[in-house]
Amino acid sequence: MKFESGVTQILQRSHNIKSFRFRRPDKFDFKAGQYIVVTIDVAGKKASKPFSLSSSPTEKDHIEFTKKLTGHEYSNALDSMRAGDSAGISGPYGKMSFEGEFDRIVLLSGGIGITPMRSICRYCTDMGLDTDVVLICSDKTEEDMVFWNELEEMMHKNRNLMVFQTLTRASGNWKGSRERINAGIIKHQVPDYLTRHFFVCGPPGMVESMMEILHTIDIPEEKIKKESITGY
Ligand SMILES: Cc1cc2nc3c(=O)[nH]c(=O)nc-3n(C[C@H](O)[C@H](O)[C@H](O)COP(=O)(O)OP(=O)(O)OC[C@H]3O[C@@H](n4cnc5c(N)ncnc54)[C@H](O)[C@@H]3O)c2cc1C
Repeated sequence: MKFESGVTQILQRSHNIKSFRFRRPDKFDFKAGQYIVVTIDVAGKKASKPFSLSSSPTEKDHIEFTKKLTGHEYSNALDSMRAGDSAGISGPYGKMSFEGEFDRIVLLSGGIGITPMRSICRYCTDMGLDTDVVLICSDKTEEDMVFWNELEEMMHKNRNLMVFQTLTRASGNWKGSRERINAGIIKHQVPDYLTRHFFVCGPPGMVESMMEILHTIDIPEEKIKKESITGY
């Protein structure tokens, strides 16, 4: 489906990450974890980029994507948009989606790869699914963590959701894990990992390294869905 939609809200999520919310047309349907392509005017020309939807299908009044701002042309043009400005949107696309088809899942996210995972967690929570979800997120520093307060809130509502955060360049105050996601973290946080389906999203290098790790711990490829956030 292709449509034009107006910005309804812009939310600052971290020092360099913002969420852009658009009016959701009645007929626009998607699955948690999918992405859209967003077309805007950049220096007088149309430019398009893909973004995972960070909103959930259960959020009926808006669709949202969440962009790491880079200071480059497209990013600046997006950042200069205000409520009421409109963009072209097409989609949904992508196979890394979840509709409740598995009983136990693990979500592995690196950096901005958290966006589709927020959609999946929100979906499972709003739908009251029995699916047991473990989300393992890796970021560089405390400042890079997005959706953390909301994920904590979701954990209170949804006893089937557990979130584990690791920070590879955390400040001295951080009491949690400082390792990159590795086999040890997965085995420790998810002792029944062999019974689960995995979802992986992050920069291409992170996704490749997760695939290698999942291979070493005997997770077959058919139990893994993945999305690479290319473009950085
Ligand atoms: C399926 C999918 C889902 C995605 N979901 C998200 C998402 O949820 N959130 C998100 O933020 N992104 C997402 N992306 C990536 C997104 O589409 C963009 O590629 C990304 O946000 C960077 O766009 P940009 O215009 O800010 O940067 P770009 O200008 O495209 O820069 C990208 C790369 O080019 C280099 N570069 C570009 N211009 C210059 C310059 N003038 N000088 C030096 N280096 C330069 C940069 O260093 C960088 O490595 C997704 C991508 C895919 C494929």
